[in-house]
Amino acid sequence: MRIDIITVLPELLESPFNHSILKRAQEKGLVEIHVHNLRDYSTDKRHRRVDDYAFGFSAGMVMQVEPIFRCIEQLKSERHYDEVIFTSPDGEQFSQPMANRLSMSGNLIILCGHYKGVDYRVREHLITKEISIGDYVLTGGELAAAVISDAIVRLIPGAIGDEQSALSDSFQDNLLAAPIYTRPAEFNGWKVPDILLSGHERKVAEWEHEQALERTRQLRPYLLDDEE
Ligand code: SAH
Repeated sequence: MRIDIITVLPELLESPFNHSILKRAQEKGLVEIHVHNLRDYSTDKRHRRVDDYAFGFSAGMVMQVEPIFRCIEQLKSERHYDEVIFTSPDGEQFSQPMANRLSMSGNLIILCGHYKGVDYRVREHLITKEISIGDYVLTGGELAAAVISDAIVRLIPGAIGDEQSALSDSFQDNLLAAPIYTRPAEFNGWKVPDILLSGHERKVAEWEHEQALERTRQLRPYLLDDEE
């Protein structure tokens, strides 16, 4: 898999991709992540500007269509992309089923907005999918791109040491995860549930499933009505 991220602030993306699972997945050759500085595609050689004032009367700067067009066209001339994603607060809400689907892609482009956002023609003509990571407004799409990439890459087989563990995480099977504990079995008088120390594999599995169901009923009841 390959993810190409287009941004005006490449530095913002350095840390998330250079640690932990995202770093290891790249080292293992499971994913290539390329960050492109949109300013390299600016038509303004001197100041490398990529934004301009909005038409109409709204305040704030807007990312111009041409540098984005040039960057996306360049990438598309090199390989096929399954989706050209724009991070946007009004996009489709990111979710585990969406992460699952995207993790099966070959190549993805993620465009990060900044300032007031991008010239709408980008969204009309160049973008195939718009994703929001929640109903709140961020300063830029970089953190959203990092969130989306993290959730996708950890699902690629081999990215997480114990593959089972990605499948037992919250939202897989539309269930939240059961409570987990580690040693010591008692701390400060606070005890781990006896069943987990019983060594009885089937009963432990049943207990975990009941706990997962109960937590889902309490905390995310709508997941139990979901068909997906
Ligand atoms: N004026 C826009 C917000 C611009 S915020 C509006 O009212 O909708 C600047 C950029 O940050 C956006 O273009 C988008 O790329 C990114 N962004 C902000 N909030 C986001 C969210 N919840 N999910 C994904 N991207 C977001």
